[in-house]
Amino acid sequence: MIFRSTRHQAPPVSAEKAILTGLAPDGGLYVPSGFPSLSPFPSGMQYPELATLAIQPFFNESSEKIDIGPIIRDALNFEVPLNFFGKETAVLELFHGPTAAFKDVGARFLAGVMAALKKPGDPVTTIVVATSGDTGGAVASAFFRKPGFEVIILFPEGKVSPRQQQQLTCWGENISSYAVKGTFDDCQRLAKEAFATPSVAGNRQLSSANSINLGRLLPQMTYYIHASIGFRARTGQSPVIIIPSGNVGNAVGAVWAREMGAPIRKIVLAANANRTIPDFFDTGKWSPRPSVETLANAMDVGNPSNMERLRDLYPDLSHLKSFIETASVTDEEIRETIISHFHKTGMVICPHTAVAEKVRRTRFDGEPAMIVATAHPAKFETIVEPLIGQPVEIPPALAGLLHRPVSVRQIEPDLHQLFT
Ligand SMILES: *Cc1c(COP(=O)(O)O)cnc(C)c1O
Repeated sequence: MIFRSTRHQAPPVSAEKAILTGLAPDGGLYVPSGFPSLSPFPSGMQYPELATLAIQPFFNESSEKIDIGPIIRDALNFEVPLNFFGKETAVLELFHGPTAAFKDVGARFLAGVMAALKKPGDPVTTIVVATSGDTGGAVASAFFRKPGFEVIILFPEGKVSPRQQQQLTCWGENISSYAVKGTFDDCQRLAKEAFATPSVAGNRQLSSANSINLGRLLPQMTYYIHASIGFRARTGQSPVIIIPSGNVGNAVGAVWAREMGAPIRKIVLAANANRTIPDFFDTGKWSPRPSVETLANAMDVGNPSNMERLRDLYPDLSHLKSFIETASVTDEEIRETIISHFHKTGMVICPHTAVAEKVRRTRFDGEPAMIVATAHPAKFETIVEPLIGQPVEIPPALAGLLHRPVSVRQIEPDLHQLFT
Protein backbone atom coordinates (compact mmCIF):
# COMPACT_ATOMS: atom_id res chain seq x y z
CA MET A 1 0.00 0.00 0.00
CA ILE A 2 1.27 3.46 -0.82
CA PHE A 3 0.14 6.75 0.69
CA ARG A 4 -0.55 10.00 -1.10
CA SER A 5 -1.03 13.57 0.07
CA THR A 6 -4.51 15.07 0.36
CA ARG A 7 -3.15 18.06 -1.60
CA HIS A 8 -1.87 15.97 -4.55
CA GLN A 9 1.39 17.94 -4.93
CA ALA A 10 3.76 15.53 -3.18
CA PRO A 11 5.05 12.16 -4.39
CA PRO A 12 3.36 9.07 -2.96
CA VAL A 13 5.31 7.29 -0.20
CA SER A 14 5.38 4.06 1.81
CA ALA A 15 3.78 3.83 5.26
CA GLU A 16 7.16 4.06 6.94
CA LYS A 17 8.04 7.28 5.09
CA ALA A 18 4.62 8.80 5.81
CA ILE A 19 5.02 8.02 9.51
CA LEU A 20 8.54 9.45 9.76
CA THR A 21 7.58 12.59 7.79
CA GLY A 22 4.29 13.41 9.53
CA LEU A 23 3.02 16.19 7.29
CA ALA A 24 3.48 15.74 3.51
CA PRO A 25 5.89 18.26 1.88
CA ASP A 26 2.97 20.02 0.13
CA GLY A 27 1.34 20.67 3.52
CA GLY A 28 -1.23 17.89 3.01
CA LEU A 29 -1.96 14.82 5.10
CA TYR A 30 -1.05 11.31 4.04
CA VAL A 31 -3.94 8.98 3.20
CA PRO A 32 -3.94 5.39 1.90
CA SER A 33 -4.18 5.16 -1.90
CA GLY A 34 -6.86 2.50 -1.40
CA PHE A 35 -8.32 0.15 1.18
CA PRO A 36 -7.87 -3.60 1.19
CA SER A 37 -11.18 -5.33 1.81
CA LEU A 38 -11.04 -7.69 4.74
CA SER A 39 -14.70 -8.63 4.54
CA PRO A 40 -15.81 -11.26 5.38
CA PHE A 41 -13.69 -11.02 8.50
CA PRO A 42 -12.44 -14.26 9.97
CA SER A 43 -14.41 -15.02 13.11
CA GLY A 44 -13.16 -15.80 16.58
CA MET A 45 -9.87 -13.90 16.34
CA GLN A 46 -8.36 -12.23 19.38
CA TYR A 47 -8.04 -8.47 19.13
CA PRO A 48 -4.24 -8.25 18.59
CA GLU A 49 -4.36 -10.89 15.83
CA LEU A 50 -7.24 -9.15 14.09
CA ALA A 51 -5.47 -5.79 14.42
CA THR A 52 -2.31 -7.23 12.87
CA LEU A 53 -4.30 -8.71 9.98
CA ALA A 54 -5.89 -5.29 9.38
CA ILE A 55 -2.71 -3.21 9.53
CA GLN A 56 -0.07 -5.42 7.92
CA PRO A 57 -1.27 -4.76 4.30
CA PHE A 58 -0.59 -1.04 4.79
CA PHE A 59 3.10 -1.81 5.36
CA ASN A 60 3.63 -4.17 2.45
CA GLU A 61 5.38 -1.55 0.29
CA SER A 62 7.86 -0.56 2.98
CA SER A 63 11.50 -1.07 2.10
CA GLU A 64 12.23 -2.00 5.69
CA LYS A 65 10.59 -5.25 6.64
CA ILE A 66 8.44 -4.16 9.54
CA ASP A 67 6.86 -7.02 11.42
CA ILE A 68 3.62 -5.48 12.66
CA GLY A 69 2.61 -8.39 14.91
CA PRO A 70 5.05 -7.78 17.80
CA ILE A 71 4.52 -4.00 17.60
CA ILE A 72 0.77 -4.48 17.90
CA ARG A 73 1.06 -6.99 20.72
CA ASP A 74 3.25 -4.59 22.66
CA ALA A 75 1.15 -1.48 21.87
CA LEU A 76 -2.23 -3.08 22.56
CA ASN A 77 -1.34 -4.84 25.77
CA PHE A 78 -4.52 -3.70 27.52
CA GLU A 79 -8.22 -4.47 27.24
CA VAL A 80 -10.53 -2.66 24.80
CA PRO A 81 -13.86 -3.95 26.12
CA LEU A 82 -17.30 -3.44 24.62
CA ASN A 83 -19.72 -3.11 27.54
CA PHE A 84 -23.44 -3.41 26.86
CA PHE A 85 -25.75 -1.24 28.95
CA GLY A 86 -28.88 -2.07 26.97
CA LYS A 87 -29.94 -4.86 24.62
CA GLU A 88 -28.43 -3.14 21.59
CA THR A 89 -26.56 -0.31 23.27
CA ALA A 90 -22.92 -0.51 24.25
CA VAL A 91 -19.92 1.55 25.24
CA LEU A 92 -16.52 0.85 23.69
CA GLU A 93 -14.02 1.58 26.47
CA LEU A 94 -10.77 2.87 25.02
CA PHE A 95 -9.31 4.10 28.32
CA HIS A 96 -7.59 1.07 29.81
CA GLY A 97 -4.09 2.02 28.65
CA PRO A 98 -1.29 3.55 30.75
CA THR A 99 -2.58 7.15 30.60
CA ALA A 100 -6.29 6.27 30.64
CA ALA A 101 -7.24 7.80 27.27
CA PHE A 102 -7.73 6.31 23.79
CA LYS A 103 -4.63 8.15 22.60
CA ASP A 104 -2.50 5.45 24.22
CA VAL A 105 -3.37 3.13 21.31
CA GLY A 106 -2.06 5.44 18.60
CA ALA A 107 0.89 6.76 20.59
CA ARG A 108 2.13 3.31 21.56
CA PHE A 109 1.85 1.95 18.04
CA LEU A 110 3.63 5.02 16.62
CA ALA A 111 6.44 4.67 19.16
CA GLY A 112 6.77 0.98 18.31
CA VAL A 113 7.05 1.64 14.57
CA MET A 114 9.51 4.53 15.03
CA ALA A 115 11.68 2.43 17.33
CA ALA A 116 11.61 -0.48 14.84
CA LEU A 117 12.84 1.86 12.10
CA LYS A 118 15.70 3.27 14.14
CA LYS A 119 19.19 2.03 13.25
CA PRO A 120 22.26 1.99 15.46
CA GLY A 121 24.13 5.31 15.08
CA ASP A 122 21.03 7.29 14.00
CA PRO A 123 20.78 10.73 15.66
CA VAL A 124 18.40 11.25 18.57
CA THR A 125 14.86 11.96 17.41
CA THR A 126 13.09 14.79 19.23
CA ILE A 127 9.32 14.42 19.16
CA VAL A 128 7.61 17.80 19.55
CA VAL A 129 4.01 17.43 20.62
CA ALA A 130 1.41 20.13 21.21
CA THR A 131 -1.37 18.87 23.44
CA SER A 132 -4.75 20.05 24.65
CA GLY A 133 -4.61 17.49 27.45
CA ASP A 134 -4.37 13.80 26.60
CA THR A 135 -2.00 13.50 23.64
CA GLY A 136 1.06 14.69 25.54
CA GLY A 137 0.69 12.16 28.35
CA ALA A 138 0.10 9.29 25.95
CA VAL A 139 3.09 10.22 23.79
CA ALA A 140 5.32 10.75 26.83
CA SER A 141 4.35 7.38 28.26
CA ALA A 142 4.88 5.66 24.90
CA PHE A 143 8.41 7.09 24.40
CA PHE A 144 9.51 7.21 28.05
CA ARG A 145 13.00 5.65 28.31
CA LYS A 146 12.96 4.57 24.65
CA PRO A 147 16.62 4.79 23.55
CA GLY A 148 17.25 7.33 20.77
CA PHE A 149 14.12 9.39 21.47
CA GLU A 150 13.28 12.46 23.47
CA VAL A 151 9.93 14.23 23.77
CA ILE A 152 9.06 17.92 24.14
CA ILE A 153 5.51 18.47 25.38
CA LEU A 154 3.77 21.83 24.92
CA PHE A 155 0.50 22.37 26.77
CA PRO A 156 -1.61 25.47 27.45
CA GLU A 157 -1.05 26.59 31.02
CA GLY A 158 -4.16 26.41 33.19
CA LYS A 159 -6.29 24.80 30.47
CA VAL A 160 -5.82 21.11 31.29
CA SER A 161 -7.31 19.23 34.23
CA PRO A 162 -5.06 18.82 37.32
CA ARG A 163 -4.64 15.11 36.68
CA GLN A 164 -3.95 15.69 33.01
CA GLN A 165 -1.27 18.17 34.04
CA GLN A 166 0.23 15.61 36.39
CA GLN A 167 0.44 13.14 33.48
CA LEU A 168 2.10 15.72 31.28
CA THR A 169 4.78 16.66 33.80
CA CYS A 170 5.57 13.51 35.81
CA TRP A 171 8.22 11.95 33.56
CA GLY A 172 11.65 13.58 33.54
CA GLU A 173 14.61 11.77 31.89
CA ASN A 174 13.98 11.92 28.11
CA ILE A 175 10.70 13.87 28.44
CA SER A 176 10.51 17.69 28.88
CA SER A 177 7.27 19.51 29.64
CA TYR A 178 6.48 23.15 28.90
CA ALA A 179 3.46 25.07 30.20
CA VAL A 180 2.85 27.62 27.45
CA LYS A 181 1.22 30.92 28.42
CA GLY A 182 -1.48 30.81 25.77
CA THR A 183 -4.02 28.47 24.18
CA PHE A 184 -3.72 25.07 22.55
CA ASP A 185 -3.63 26.87 19.21
CA ASP A 186 -0.51 28.75 20.42
CA CYS A 187 1.09 25.41 21.32
CA GLN A 188 0.28 24.00 17.92
CA ARG A 189 1.65 27.10 16.20
CA LEU A 190 4.85 26.81 18.22
CA ALA A 191 5.28 23.17 17.19
CA LYS A 192 4.70 24.08 13.53
CA GLU A 193 7.23 26.92 13.76
CA ALA A 194 9.80 24.54 15.20
CA PHE A 195 9.44 22.28 12.14
CA ALA A 196 9.59 25.26 9.79
CA THR A 197 12.76 26.60 11.46
CA PRO A 198 14.95 23.52 12.00
CA SER A 199 17.96 25.74 12.80
CA VAL A 200 16.52 26.65 16.22
CA ALA A 201 16.63 22.99 17.16
CA GLY A 202 20.39 22.67 16.64
CA ASN A 203 21.35 19.17 15.64
CA ARG A 204 18.19 17.58 16.91
CA GLN A 205 16.18 15.64 14.38
CA LEU A 206 12.62 16.86 14.89
CA SER A 207 9.61 14.64 14.45
CA SER A 208 5.91 14.92 15.19
CA ALA A 209 3.48 12.68 16.98
CA ASN A 210 0.35 14.76 16.62
CA SER A 211 -2.89 13.19 15.51
CA ILE A 212 -2.17 14.04 11.89
CA ASN A 213 0.53 11.35 11.95
CA LEU A 214 -0.52 8.30 10.00
CA GLY A 215 1.09 6.06 12.61
CA ARG A 216 -1.54 7.11 15.10
CA LEU A 217 -4.49 6.73 12.76
CA LEU A 218 -3.85 3.24 11.43
CA PRO A 219 -4.13 1.47 14.80
CA GLN A 220 -7.29 3.46 15.55
CA MET A 221 -9.06 1.50 12.80
CA THR A 222 -8.48 -1.73 14.60
CA TYR A 223 -10.67 -1.31 17.67
CA TYR A 224 -13.57 -0.31 15.46
CA ILE A 225 -13.14 -3.41 13.33
CA HIS A 226 -12.95 -5.63 16.40
CA ALA A 227 -15.80 -3.93 18.26
CA SER A 228 -18.22 -3.75 15.32
CA ILE A 229 -17.69 -7.46 14.60
CA GLY A 230 -18.32 -8.20 18.28
CA PHE A 231 -21.41 -5.99 18.29
CA ARG A 232 -22.87 -7.76 15.28
CA ALA A 233 -22.05 -11.19 16.62
CA ARG A 234 -24.02 -10.40 19.76
CA THR A 235 -26.97 -8.42 18.36
CA GLY A 236 -27.15 -9.42 14.70
CA GLN A 237 -26.96 -5.70 13.85
CA SER A 238 -24.35 -3.28 12.53
CA PRO A 239 -24.06 -0.39 14.98
CA VAL A 240 -24.14 3.35 14.68
CA ILE A 241 -20.83 4.43 16.25
CA ILE A 242 -20.92 7.75 18.10
CA ILE A 243 -17.47 9.25 18.61
CA PRO A 244 -16.57 12.23 20.84
CA SER A 245 -14.59 14.26 18.30
CA GLY A 246 -12.16 17.15 18.30
CA ASN A 247 -9.41 16.88 15.72
CA VAL A 248 -11.33 13.91 14.22
CA GLY A 249 -8.41 11.46 14.20
CA ASN A 250 -10.35 8.86 16.15
CA ALA A 251 -13.31 9.14 13.77
CA VAL A 252 -11.05 8.83 10.72
CA GLY A 253 -10.07 5.44 12.15
CA ALA A 254 -13.74 4.44 12.17
CA VAL A 255 -14.32 5.66 8.61
CA TRP A 256 -11.28 3.75 7.35
CA ALA A 257 -12.45 0.64 9.23
CA ARG A 258 -15.77 0.92 7.42
CA GLU A 259 -13.93 1.27 4.09
CA MET A 260 -12.26 -2.06 4.85
CA GLY A 261 -15.62 -3.70 5.32
CA ALA A 262 -16.19 -3.47 9.08
CA PRO A 263 -19.94 -3.78 9.84
CA ILE A 264 -20.60 -0.14 10.75
CA ARG A 265 -23.94 1.36 9.73
CA LYS A 266 -23.20 4.97 10.47
CA ILE A 267 -20.53 7.13 12.12
CA VAL A 268 -21.44 10.16 14.21
CA LEU A 269 -18.97 12.95 14.94
CA ALA A 270 -20.15 14.23 18.31
CA ALA A 271 -18.68 17.66 19.06
CA ASN A 272 -18.86 19.90 22.12
CA ALA A 273 -19.63 23.61 21.72
CA ASN A 274 -16.85 23.88 19.11
CA ARG A 275 -19.17 23.69 16.12
CA THR A 276 -16.83 23.88 13.14
CA ILE A 277 -17.76 20.40 11.90
CA PRO A 278 -21.51 20.42 12.54
CA ASP A 279 -21.69 23.83 10.84
CA PHE A 280 -19.80 22.45 7.84
CA PHE A 281 -22.25 19.57 7.51
CA ASP A 282 -25.19 22.00 7.80
CA THR A 283 -23.97 24.71 5.46
CA GLY A 284 -21.33 23.11 3.22
CA LYS A 285 -18.96 25.95 4.17
CA TRP A 286 -15.66 25.18 5.89
CA SER A 287 -15.04 27.93 8.44
CA PRO A 288 -12.40 27.15 11.06
CA ARG A 289 -12.41 29.52 14.02
CA PRO A 290 -10.70 29.96 17.41
CA SER A 291 -11.60 27.21 19.86
CA VAL A 292 -13.84 27.81 22.88
CA GLU A 293 -13.22 26.20 26.27
CA THR A 294 -15.60 23.46 27.35
CA LEU A 295 -15.82 20.71 29.96
CA ALA A 296 -14.67 18.22 27.31
CA ASN A 297 -11.34 20.01 26.87
CA ALA A 298 -9.59 17.41 24.70
CA MET A 299 -12.18 18.26 22.04
CA ASP A 300 -11.70 22.03 22.18
CA VAL A 301 -10.55 22.32 18.58
CA GLY A 302 -11.63 25.11 16.26
CA ASN A 303 -9.76 23.93 13.17
CA PRO A 304 -10.04 20.14 13.10
CA SER A 305 -7.19 19.14 10.83
CA ASN A 306 -8.21 15.56 10.09
CA MET A 307 -11.39 16.74 8.33
CA GLU A 308 -9.07 17.20 5.37
CA ARG A 309 -8.73 13.42 5.22
CA LEU A 310 -12.49 12.84 5.22
CA ARG A 311 -13.09 15.50 2.60
CA ASP A 312 -10.36 13.96 0.48
CA LEU A 313 -11.95 10.51 0.69
CA TYR A 314 -15.38 11.89 -0.26
CA PRO A 315 -15.09 15.34 -1.82
CA ASP A 316 -18.85 15.39 -2.27
CA LEU A 317 -20.52 16.44 0.99
CA SER A 318 -23.69 14.51 0.16
CA HIS A 319 -21.62 11.33 -0.01
CA LEU A 320 -20.12 12.04 3.43
CA LYS A 321 -23.62 12.72 4.75
CA SER A 322 -24.81 9.33 3.51
CA PHE A 323 -23.00 7.61 6.38
CA ILE A 324 -21.70 10.38 8.68
CA GLU A 325 -23.76 12.59 10.95
CA THR A 326 -22.63 15.38 13.24
CA ALA A 327 -23.99 16.97 16.40
CA SER A 328 -22.96 19.52 19.01
CA VAL A 329 -23.51 19.28 22.77
CA THR A 330 -23.37 22.07 25.37
CA ASP A 331 -21.61 21.99 28.73
CA GLU A 332 -24.99 21.95 30.48
CA GLU A 333 -25.98 18.84 28.52
CA ILE A 334 -22.64 17.23 29.40
CA ARG A 335 -23.34 17.76 33.11
CA GLU A 336 -26.91 16.43 32.90
CA THR A 337 -25.77 13.37 30.96
CA ILE A 338 -23.00 12.46 33.42
CA ILE A 339 -25.56 12.59 36.24
CA SER A 340 -28.39 10.74 34.51
CA HIS A 341 -26.14 8.06 33.00
CA PHE A 342 -24.82 7.34 36.47
CA HIS A 343 -28.32 7.09 37.94
CA LYS A 344 -29.63 4.90 35.11
CA THR A 345 -26.71 2.52 34.62
CA GLY A 346 -24.35 2.96 37.58
CA MET A 347 -21.60 3.78 35.05
CA VAL A 348 -19.47 6.87 35.53
CA ILE A 349 -18.48 8.55 32.26
CA CYS A 350 -16.04 11.36 31.49
CA PRO A 351 -17.21 14.67 29.95
CA HIS A 352 -16.06 13.59 26.46
CA THR A 353 -17.94 10.30 26.63
CA ALA A 354 -20.99 12.21 27.88
CA VAL A 355 -21.02 14.16 24.61
CA ALA A 356 -21.47 10.89 22.70
CA GLU A 357 -24.08 9.53 25.11
CA LYS A 358 -26.11 12.73 24.85
CA VAL A 359 -26.16 12.43 21.06
CA ARG A 360 -27.17 8.76 21.28
CA ARG A 361 -30.16 9.54 23.48
CA THR A 362 -31.30 12.45 21.40
CA ARG A 363 -30.94 10.90 17.97
CA PHE A 364 -30.47 7.15 18.20
CA ASP A 365 -32.46 5.99 21.19
CA GLY A 366 -33.72 2.46 20.52
CA GLU A 367 -31.29 1.92 17.63
CA PRO A 368 -28.30 -0.43 17.70
CA ALA A 369 -25.57 1.98 18.79
CA MET A 370 -22.11 2.05 20.30
CA ILE A 371 -20.80 5.11 22.11
CA VAL A 372 -17.06 5.52 22.42
CA ALA A 373 -15.55 6.22 25.86
CA THR A 374 -12.37 8.14 25.10
CA ALA A 375 -11.05 8.78 28.62
CA HIS A 376 -11.42 7.37 32.13
CA PRO A 377 -13.63 9.60 34.32
CA ALA A 378 -10.95 9.63 37.04
CA LYS A 379 -8.91 11.98 34.81
CA PHE A 380 -11.69 14.56 35.16
CA GLU A 381 -12.61 14.03 38.77
CA THR A 382 -12.93 17.77 39.51
CA ILE A 383 -15.86 17.85 37.05
CA VAL A 384 -17.34 14.40 37.56
CA GLU A 385 -17.21 13.86 41.33
CA PRO A 386 -19.35 16.87 42.36
CA LEU A 387 -21.96 15.81 39.78
CA ILE A 388 -22.34 12.22 40.93
CA GLY A 389 -21.70 13.01 44.60
CA GLN A 390 -19.04 10.36 45.17
CA PRO A 391 -15.38 9.70 44.43
CA VAL A 392 -14.38 8.02 41.18
CA GLU A 393 -12.15 5.00 41.61
CA ILE A 394 -8.70 5.59 40.14
CA PRO A 395 -7.44 2.88 37.76
CA PRO A 396 -4.08 1.38 38.87
CA ALA A 397 -2.02 2.73 35.93
CA LEU A 398 -3.24 6.25 36.56
CA ALA A 399 -2.69 5.92 40.31
CA GLY A 400 0.96 5.05 39.64
CA LEU A 401 1.46 8.26 37.63
CA LEU A 402 -0.23 10.45 40.23
CA HIS A 403 2.50 9.70 42.75
CA ARG A 404 5.45 10.65 40.59
CA PRO A 405 7.25 13.98 41.18
CA VAL A 406 6.67 16.61 38.49
CA SER A 407 8.89 19.03 36.61
CA VAL A 408 7.70 21.70 34.18
CA ARG A 409 8.93 24.98 32.70
CA GLN A 410 6.66 27.92 31.96
CA ILE A 411 7.31 29.72 28.68
CA GLU A 412 5.78 32.42 26.51
CA PRO A 413 4.59 31.11 23.13
CA ASP A 414 7.96 31.98 21.62
CA LEU A 415 10.15 29.51 19.77
CA HIS A 416 13.41 30.80 21.22
CA GLN A 417 12.26 30.12 24.77
CA LEU A 418 11.68 26.53 23.77
CA PHE A 419 15.19 25.66 22.69
CA THR A 420 17.25 27.62 25.23
C1 LIG B 1 -8.23 13.57 21.94
C2 LIG B 1 -9.49 13.26 22.62
C3 LIG B 1 -10.74 13.35 21.96
C4 LIG B 1 -10.83 13.83 20.54
O1 LIG B 1 -10.26 12.91 19.64
P1 LIG B 1 -9.93 13.38 18.14
O2 LIG B 1 -9.24 12.23 17.52
O3 LIG B 1 -9.06 14.59 18.26
O4 LIG B 1 -11.24 13.70 17.50
C5 LIG B 1 -11.88 12.98 22.63
N1 LIG B 1 -11.82 12.58 23.91
C6 LIG B 1 -10.67 12.49 24.59
C7 LIG B 1 -10.69 12.07 26.01
C8 LIG B 1 -9.46 12.81 23.98
O5 LIG B 1 -8.31 12.72 24.65
